[in-house]
Amino acid sequence: MTSPHLFDLHPAQWPQWFETLGFPSFQGRNAARWVFQKGAKSWQEMTDLPASLRQQLEIKAPLQQTRLVHQSEAADGACKVLLALADGATVEAVGMPGTDGRTICLSTQVGCPVRCRFCASGMEGLARNLSQGEILEQALWLQRSQGAFQRVVVMGMGEAGFNLPAVLGALDVLLDAEGFGISARRITLSTVGPKGAIPAIGAWGRPIHLAISVHAADDELRHQLIPGVKHRSLVETLDEAEALFEANGREYTVEYVLLAGVNDGPEHAQALASVLYQRRCHVNLIPFNAVPELPYACPAPMVQEEFAKRLRSGGLSVTLRRSLGGASDAACGQLRRRNLAPDHPHNV
Ligand code: SF4
Repeated sequence: MTSPHLFDLHPAQWPQWFETLGFPSFQGRNAARWVFQKGAKSWQEMTDLPASLRQQLEIKAPLQQTRLVHQSEAADGACKVLLALADGATVEAVGMPGTDGRTICLSTQVGCPVRCRFCASGMEGLARNLSQGEILEQALWLQRSQGAFQRVVVMGMGEAGFNLPAVLGALDVLLDAEGFGISARRITLSTVGPKGAIPAIGAWGRPIHLAISVHAADDELRHQLIPGVKHRSLVETLDEAEALFEANGREYTVEYVLLAGVNDGPEHAQALASVLYQRRCHVNLIPFNAVPELPYACPAPMVQEEFAKRLRSGGLSVTLRRSLGGASDAACGQLRRRNLAPDHPHNV
């Protein structure tokens, strides 16, 4: 049987959990400080907890339920970790340097049910949702290997909108002063906008930043590229994002992966400018990151620039993003896929 995962609880609940095991509740607060503020990775490191208590905790509630399988570092300072979960599934997370501190990118599911045609993570579909604790362990591993982080993007493997209870629970811990204490303004959640997800994020009430994965303005092309949103129109999703802006005053980002010869033409730029006209968003253009198994290519720099220019002349605020994640294993889900290969030493 899998032991209870303490990270599935909010740190404010740790004292009560300690009490139910017959330990003093104040030691629960103490332990949470050790984990989230001092980066402890084992009970033994918590030297001001009595040795007998540490020993009992080691048996009753192992602190870590994930294991580091692989770590790759790129020349630009990006660090990618592949973690094995208690059931042997694997998941990846990335830490990236930036001008105003480090950003970490977290996964929310093992695999992904959305199956975007240009994404390594979606190739095998969904294996399972991650728990709150498994999402938080990614942040803890990156914090231990690279130090404190200042931004969080929920943009790794999986669609957060299909696993909201665990994702929002993890974000509560990232936001809370008893947890990681990250400001809501520095947290971005990316979603394709499954039915009910954006309103649920609004009802949760924390003013995080939303990024909507769009990738095509035309619904027919969008549904081809993102099969998991076949039942929804883009306008419906954008209207929900606008409603959230009305409620919390936070502009959202439109994410658009540029695929050569697929969605990077002048007509695609024109259609995108039209559907976003007067909406409260910023457009983030992401040149495709090559994945060997996929039949897509990155548009030439001139084509990327031209696409951005057309959007800007349509009145939109646009960023053309440089690729992050390093030269090796750069695309989302690639490190995990490589480690799933039958001849990989970690997959025997
Ligand atoms: S791009 Fe995101 S939503 Fe699409 S398949 Fe990949 S992980 Fe899932």
